[in-house]
Amino acid sequence: MKHVDEYRDPQVCRRLVAEIQQTASRCYTIMEVCGGQTHGLLMHGIDQELDGVVELLHGPGCPVCVTPAEDIDFAISLCQRAGVAVVTFGDMLRVPGTTISLREARARGGDVRLVYSPLDAVQLAKHDPSREFVFFAVGFETTTPATALAIQQAASLGLNNFSMIVSHVRVQPAMEAIMEAEACRVEAFLAAGHVCTVSGFASYDDFARRYHVPVVVTGFEPVDLLSGILSCVSQLERGVAQVENRYERSARQAGNAHALRVVDETYEICDQPWRGLGTISRGGVRLQNRWRRFDAAQRYSRVALPIVGSSRCRSGDVLTGRIKPTECEYFGRECTQETPLGAPMVSSEGACAAYARHARQPV
Ligand code: SF4
Repeated sequence: MKHVDEYRDPQVCRRLVAEIQQTASRCYTIMEVCGGQTHGLLMHGIDQELDGVVELLHGPGCPVCVTPAEDIDFAISLCQRAGVAVVTFGDMLRVPGTTISLREARARGGDVRLVYSPLDAVQLAKHDPSREFVFFAVGFETTTPATALAIQQAASLGLNNFSMIVSHVRVQPAMEAIMEAEACRVEAFLAAGHVCTVSGFASYDDFARRYHVPVVVTGFEPVDLLSGILSCVSQLERGVAQVENRYERSARQAGNAHALRVVDETYEICDQPWRGLGTISRGGVRLQNRWRRFDAAQRYSRVALPIVGSSRCRSGDVLTGRIKPTECEYFGRECTQETPLGAPMVSSEGACAAYARHARQPV
């Protein structure tokens, strides 16, 4: 396939694997931040090829996995109200809240609509003024520009039947929390190429210096991933900790100026609860005061749902690299893709789903 084949070239991959093996004088621990990278690494067997040379830890970059159960509960309570529809991406449907998922709420009569873009949600509101539409805005810096645009478009259309549950998260504060956690084993990061395409990577210079940890901006194809790992291993061998860009075809140091401007006009940084990780300082965004009329949390009161038992899911340990999915006692037993106990098994970007899909066995 044009533009993709060169990043999947088996000969180039073999050469990169050999170079990593020759360069590493010991086994290094590298965390890939993004769930898309986790799936790429497992799909192409890179974790197995580099066994004993590089240990890959899987990071928190699965937006659906880190969305707090309380926000899902809020969405569920709204879809069950008369005259209110909750609009969301398909990935959010199966993720359990405290008691049930949005899919179960829909099966019980809740009004839940699926869209591919936040702008589709604005169109739903425009064409049906008799209902209120609440968009469930989740995701990292890759999705905030689109939801910011949706807010601005709703305002320019004068819609008063559109609002958002804002549950966006920011990736760098989560990386800082991981580095500051007790017994952190991360020696280098593969930063998420698509996030850096939007946000740039200038802010990682200070991060790399402060924690003395290499950060390599990396894409998602096998050549991208192996090239990023080689860069990390080379730096670690030389005892340096720098930011390198191995996703030059997409990411620029300053990011996407237009996207960043729209986000700056719409959101402000705030502390944010992450599912499984707790509240992360500056780990999310909320709407600026001038857009608060579109904030579902201001428009509707939250109804606490009854808690049925406590979750057994160890998503917090998986999302911070403390354990591999196969080390969770429920993996492949009670927790499978057909009977998921937690979001990392549900989400298409979840690490547990990646291990299940690519047939890694429970330990
Ligand atoms: S295997 Fe299942 S229960 Fe264990 S951490 Fe993953 S999603 Fe949670």
